[in-house]
Amino acid sequence: MEWTYNLFEPIVTRLDPVWRLFGYQRVEKPMAAVERGVKGLLFDCQMCGQCALSSTGMSCPMNCPKQLRNGPCGGVRQNGNCEVEPDMKCVWVEAWEGSQRMSSDGGARIHEVQPAVDFQLEGTSSWLRVARQKREERIIARSGDSAQQETRV
Ligand code: SF4
Repeated sequence: MEWTYNLFEPIVTRLDPVWRLFGYQRVEKPMAAVERGVKGLLFDCQMCGQCALSSTGMSCPMNCPKQLRNGPCGGVRQNGNCEVEPDMKCVWVEAWEGSQRMSSDGGARIHEVQPAVDFQLEGTSSWLRVARQKREERIIARSGDSAQQETRV
């Protein structure tokens, strides 16, 4: 599962010039539809708009009946199933197991604290959000580099 995620996200990120050409707002709807289709099929994605899969062993935390994004509640059953949905394995048991199989970080990212869900982002493309964030990070890094060069001159 990790490889599919690692395949799509960098492609969308690298296509930033294309998204800017058409306008991020204009591509939002079609991209959200593609993301819904791909991630819905692979991860039961609920389109929260702020994807945490890379930090949760590819187990979508929005499938937790309590939508917990920072670990399990205290009600995990002895067999590892959910207290609300007894026939369902706890999303966080799956997240922990999945994180141990992550090749990118060896499971380290599961320890990162996730911010609270912003429901205003529900239904939007988290891929495009990441693409925009990465572009902003590149701009900041570049402006830092040029500022350093100016101070050296
Ligand atoms: S964390 Fe959000 S964007 Fe990621 S798979 Fe789950 S619902 Fe979809």
